[in-house]
Amino acid sequence: MYRIGLGYDIHRLTTGRDLIIGGVKITHEKGLLGHSDADVLIHAIIDGLLGALALTDIGTLFPDTDKKYKDIDSTILLKKVYGKIREKGYTINNIDSNIIAQEPKMMPYIPKMKDILCKILEIPYEDLSIKAKTNEQMDAVGQKLAIEAHAVVLLKKV
Ligand SMILES: [Zn+2]
Repeated sequence: MYRIGLGYDIHRLTTGRDLIIGGVKITHEKGLLGHSDADVLIHAIIDGLLGALALTDIGTLFPDTDKKYKDIDSTILLKKVYGKIREKGYTINNIDSNIIAQEPKMMPYIPKMKDILCKILEIPYEDLSIKAKTNEQMDAVGQKLAIEAHAVVLLKKV
């Protein structure tokens, strides 16, 4: 049996924060604002995983009012959520995702993101797609005010 999930996230860009996407620290003069490390790609994947099994969402599971999640490394949250998926008897069939950022260029960092995420999610490289786009200077993302990510996740019953 297969279950599909859709994840989306957006964070505002601000000075004085590290830019962390897909578990990778990216060289940039701004970072994403959030209660955790604001890893927009991991958050979209988490919401896709949770959505596939109708297990609520990242904000319900890890509320931003809880001090224990302040500046937390999102790979830790991803490990927890993947554990829930496994508990329910599912593994990941494949994931497709988009990072939408006007700058910096994501492409050089994607292999490292795949290394980190495939290891946590126990899938081979070919089962995780990470694509990068700009928003052609339009809207908040195109105006370099924010970075967003989308993920579609397909789970299969073991
Ligand atoms: Zn987020």
